[in-house]
Amino acid sequence: MQKAKEWGFKISEHSKICKSIDQVFSFLEKWNVKRHELAFDTDGVVIKVNSYAQQEDLGYTAKSPRWAIAYKFKAESVSTELISISYQVGRTGAITPVANLSPVQLAGTTVKRATLHNADQIAKLDLRIGDHVFVEKGGEIIPKITSVDLSKRSDSSKPVVYIHTCPECGTHLKRSEGEALHYCPNTSGCPPQIKGRIEHFISRRAMNIDSLGEGKVEILFENERIKSPADLYKLNYHSLIKLEKIIEPEDGGKVKKISLQDKSVQKILNGIEASKTVPFERVLYAIGIRFVGETVAKKLALHFKSIDALKKASVEELIEVEEIGERIAQSVVEFFGDKVNLRIIHDLEAAGLQLKLSESSIPKTLSAKLEGQTFVVSGVFSNFSREDLKMLIEQHGGKNQSGVSAKTNFLLAGDEAGPSKLEKAKKLNVRILSEKEFEEMIK
Ligand SMILES: [Zn+2]
Repeated sequence: MQKAKEWGFKISEHSKICKSIDQVFSFLEKWNVKRHELAFDTDGVVIKVNSYAQQEDLGYTAKSPRWAIAYKFKAESVSTELISISYQVGRTGAITPVANLSPVQLAGTTVKRATLHNADQIAKLDLRIGDHVFVEKGGEIIPKITSVDLSKRSDSSKPVVYIHTCPECGTHLKRSEGEALHYCPNTSGCPPQIKGRIEHFISRRAMNIDSLGEGKVEILFENERIKSPADLYKLNYHSLIKLEKIIEPEDGGKVKKISLQDKSVQKILNGIEASKTVPFERVLYAIGIRFVGETVAKKLALHFKSIDALKKASVEELIEVEEIGERIAQSVVEFFGDKVNLRIIHDLEAAGLQLKLSESSIPKTLSAKLEGQTFVVSGVFSNFSREDLKMLIEQHGGKNQSGVSAKTNFLLAGDEAGPSKLEKAKKLNVRILSEKEFEEMIK
């Protein structure tokens, strides 16, 4: 920021380096009031990790950096009546409670619904049907309930009892220890979960079958043509032509009928056929294992190289992969322990999908010089990026780890390497390498 300022860029005069989280909070508190004195409007503060080495350590999720976050100041708030609570079932079976509100104006729009996140949130707010609640819009588009106006509460009101069974299929809900959300465990029989899984499967970053977008999954599902992603590959012209769906608008408008005609049927079939060339890492993301997003799918694909190897992996073997923790490992093992899932994988394989890493995706082997050696890479280097170094380690037969352990052979440390990693390496007698020494090793 200072350099940018020297170069003549306009930067905020009000940024500050904070040495502790308390300093961050007092900065936020100060500006929550003082912002009204500024010559411009502002809705929040961006908090970033200052050290480049730590930024690199934290890295990115598929969507955003892990070293920066936006804090939003308290938003405008209005009071309205809570009419009822409905429950939505997501693609993964997660239940989201939604508050239905008496319509009210807030920040330029009419608000009728608000998210309630989970059962804990409802209990924490001690919500009761008929309560007058305060609603506000934060950073999200969907407003939320922040508190209850107790002065308007009726004496006869009773706390909301959270549902025990799935509103879509009637199955008893489950909630794992330490988790906020309730889940419907009926993954292979619960309609929104089946539809959601297929919609995720065909989405752009997964199998990218866009000819099936815009409600077509719905038509196919309701006409009992598809129950799983694998069923897509069993469709043909005759099973699709003239399929229909009746749409009755919620507001009582005209009833519409959609029917699949020759052109869209051809498009759908072409799109499905084309998806057979989608590479393994994206297929792995597409099959929708809980907690396996794009980045994790890529890591797993590179490490295990085929669905067969991944299927056999134990929790211990999965955790050895960089950035794969207990929660993801458990979820992968659970997924492949389910007969229905194995059946789907089998059918996808039979349909000709890419369930092995293609030759071009496997980094070329350069030597076996680092065979059997395990590395941890930390810090900033002058000739290589950290990702390059990790790739080189693998190309020379070595393995990468995210944390120093008794199994680590070398800590490859650059400038600003993590102090705790250095300390642990010294304690465990792990050899600490410089970038230069490493280059010598693979020469
Ligand atoms: Zn269900």
